[in-house]
Amino acid sequence: MQDLSKSLARLKQQHRYRQVKTRLGPQDHTIEVNGQRLLNFCSNDYLGLSNHPKVLDAFITAAKHYGVGSGASHLINGHTDAHDKLERALAKWSGREKALLYSTGYMANLGIASGLLNAQSAVFEDRLNHASLIDAGLMAKSRFKRFAHLDMQALEKQLSQSEARTKMIMTDGIFSMDGDAAPLAKLSQLAQKYQAWLMVDDAHGVGLLGDTGAGLVEQAQLNSADVPILVYTFGKAIGTSGACVVGDADLIDTLVQHSRSYVYTTAMPPAIAAATEQSIQIIQTETWRKQQLHDNIALFKQLLQEHNISTQSDSAIQPILIGSDENALAASQALNNAGIMVSAIRPPTVPEGTARLRITLSAFHQTTHIEQLVDVLSQIKGLQ
Ligand SMILES: *Cc1c(COP(=O)(O)O)cnc(C)c1O
Repeated sequence: MQDLSKSLARLKQQHRYRQVKTRLGPQDHTIEVNGQRLLNFCSNDYLGLSNHPKVLDAFITAAKHYGVGSGASHLINGHTDAHDKLERALAKWSGREKALLYSTGYMANLGIASGLLNAQSAVFEDRLNHASLIDAGLMAKSRFKRFAHLDMQALEKQLSQSEARTKMIMTDGIFSMDGDAAPLAKLSQLAQKYQAWLMVDDAHGVGLLGDTGAGLVEQAQLNSADVPILVYTFGKAIGTSGACVVGDADLIDTLVQHSRSYVYTTAMPPAIAAATEQSIQIIQTETWRKQQLHDNIALFKQLLQEHNISTQSDSAIQPILIGSDENALAASQALNNAGIMVSAIRPPTVPEGTARLRITLSAFHQTTHIEQLVDVLSQIKGLQ
């Protein structure tokens, strides 16, 4: 174990060491972390639903009815009518034939790879895809190609040169560390031209984009022929936990047969399924939450611009690029000293030399919170 302590020491020296912090109480605009009360700009609870009274009620009622654990995998007897009801709601919302639940988004992405790919396949991924998509591509034992961020010419070249029997393009919808959107219309065009499957992970679009909140794919008006494999995760805007794949009946049935992270794991707690179903109803009825978030994003961008600080993103994820790990950590610490929590994101989560502050906005923020954040940001040297 001596080698481990050496490599840990090296991480600390490189400003790459990571530490768990402990929060007391629910996600909100203000949280208590490590004994400090801080304004919260790093939660993915974009709509403030993780502690919504109706979501909580649905969770508690279902826990009293079913117990806490599901007690078995979906294929044995862990799958309840609460899971069924959620899968039907997800299929309807997404305009797809069927939905399949996974315990986490990470597992859904691995499960797509293990269910659909093999040594004769090729996977094509944007360089800035989320780690779970990269891991899925690596795990599949397929040929693995990565193209420069959003570079459709590079992707087309790779597709045109591939002789793989099955080709799959995997992409984030909204990129998790950059906040920009994948060019879905162009991606689906290329997928059809080269007979590849297009898989979109809409972890940061679901709940926030599209007329009914069904995400980036709804906003882009693409159907299941355009985007045959669509992933939603529940841990962000939906405010619960878990994930699903939505698509046509044959896709879902194939995953039920072969997707290892679906077959070989305990079904998500039924109470999580019930809470998720309730949350999706709230997203479709309390539409002011989505509007509030979009107003907050617009306000933040406008205030930043007044201080000549640039961000390229229009989504709830607002990165401010810094460069060196050390400077990113120092900026995050300066914010912390002023009572504001913003995380510094460093390699390997982002490419070398692109350490950044990753600010996330939520419907639970009020104007004064955003003004306070920008006020402190404007005093940090080197951001302009
Ligand atoms: C957060 C995230 C995941 C992982 O989802 P979990 O449910 O937290 O495991 C997958 N993909 C993207 C793009 C994400 O941002």
